[in-house]
Amino acid sequence: MPNWKNIVGLSFNHEEFDIYCHSLNWTTWKPAFIVLHHTANPDLQMRPDGFTSQHMQNLTHHYRDELNWSAGPHLFIDDHKIWVFTPLTTSGIHADSFNQNSIGVEMLGDYNSDNFSEGRGLAVRKNTIAALASLHNILDIDIASLKFHKDEPNTQKNCPGKNVIKGEIIAEVEDLIIKRRGGEK
Ligand SMILES: [Zn+2]
Repeated sequence: MPNWKNIVGLSFNHEEFDIYCHSLNWTTWKPAFIVLHHTANPDLQMRPDGFTSQHMQNLTHHYRDELNWSAGPHLFIDDHKIWVFTPLTTSGIHADSFNQNSIGVEMLGDYNSDNFSEGRGLAVRKNTIAALASLHNILDIDIASLKFHKDEPNTQKNCPGKNVIKGEIIAEVEDLIIKRRGGEK
């Protein structure tokens, strides 16, 4: 069994996540870009109240014991919180050739079918935009470098789903970064 990197297992709101990211030191591993995913299974209906600590333990069991991986994705984002799974300061496993130098962000939902513009899907979207704004700002990564899992050449998955439009995500993150800096667009 590979050395499991352990999980953080904490959940944050937007402000708490930004403070948390500021407290981290990316001295041993610094990601070059961020990769966006959706969980697909579970979709929104399967997690009516979002994730819990128990779900993080179940995911640990899945990645560590069933898949025999050393880590998983870095973040799991639901309609309430931003959950930190694999520590952000070490590489995770989420997208084959992208793993070595990227942060993997999983959004709860199946956005080939779940609505990403209304209701719970919109709440997941807003939490994701906030988390991406913090990470791109703190790591000084250009949001234009954002990748989707489906950009990875070895995958067949339509991840994060057809309802997630990269140009919209990039524009929304860009706007939020500018807004947080108190600047004009
Ligand atoms: Zn994916």
